[in-house]
Amino acid sequence: MSEAVILDGKAIAANLRNCLKHKVAKLIEDTGKAPSLAVILVGDHPPSQVYVNNKQKAAHEVGLKATLHHLPSSTSQNELEHTLKKLNEDPAVNAILLQLPLPKGLMADPLLLTINPLKDADGLHPFNLGLIMAGAPNLIPCTPYGIMQILKAYNLDPKGKRALVIGRSRLVGRPITELLLNAHATVAVAHSHTSEEDLRSLLIESDLVIGAVGKPGFIRGDWLKQGCVAIDVGINRLPDGKLVGDFAYEECLPKVAAITPVPGGVGPLTVAHLLLNTVKAFEIQCFGHTHIEL
Ligand code: NAP
Repeated sequence: MSEAVILDGKAIAANLRNCLKHKVAKLIEDTGKAPSLAVILVGDHPPSQVYVNNKQKAAHEVGLKATLHHLPSSTSQNELEHTLKKLNEDPAVNAILLQLPLPKGLMADPLLLTINPLKDADGLHPFNLGLIMAGAPNLIPCTPYGIMQILKAYNLDPKGKRALVIGRSRLVGRPITELLLNAHATVAVAHSHTSEEDLRSLLIESDLVIGAVGKPGFIRGDWLKQGCVAIDVGINRLPDGKLVGDFAYEECLPKVAAITPVPGGVGPLTVAHLLLNTVKAFEIQCFGHTHIEL
């Protein structure tokens, strides 16, 4: 039995950021403008503040302009909608990211609908999700996009493989299901109403497993098909502060051909693809199309 390949998301993300740095420098040279990202944070949710700072820092590192709009938790639905509309109309803003979750009382869905789909940095507008379903993706949600990038970087072609996506969120499960279908995998989806018996019978047949559940160590080693590829999206903090994924990592190692670690797997790709979406949005707005083949 050969050793599992540990899929190094950090290295792939560093490579992508490096390509983007060159791409952004060229765009600035050609147009005199840097692609610009507006990040909206409402309230003082500490993890969101950390995420937003990381995103802003990463954007600056590749030469993008990134502006934080930090609004108080007392902001009303109407005020937030107004802010988004103003950013939609501002030609100096190419991409808009509304940091989720929002404080209690604010509804994310109508706000995501308010964002101009051509400035939709997170790719969560129904228009962009619909384009994935139509088989013609444009601005793709960052985490699923990152997963596809990992598969590509390691030549793990999903074509003809049996894939199982565990989780069906708008953020991860649904878009990765469609992207895998577009990549010609045979895809099954499990969720909280899938019985353990069904989950196990699907898992034992699956060549590629995407775990996006949010439960530490939920996917057990003896449930997996020998030689499968495991992509762990879950980020779960244990009481001792340690971060772990949705796969019981140590148990799964002897069963898998390849696996993403947590941390250092899917996570770094998510931020890198936010930067990529910002550049794509800029190109769509400036040239009407994108030239990105990274
Ligand atoms: P979510 O919206 O809470 O969705 C979780 C999904 O898991 C739901 O579809 C749920 O089913 C399903 N589920 C719950 N219990 C299950 C069970 N027993 N069996 C099968 N499915 C079950 O979470 P999310 O936003 O997709 O995120 C999932 C995880 O990924 C979280 O740990 C999150 O922190 C992490 N994440 C990581 C990144 C990254 O950059 N690495 C990015 C985004 C999210 P129902 O639909 O039936 O409720």
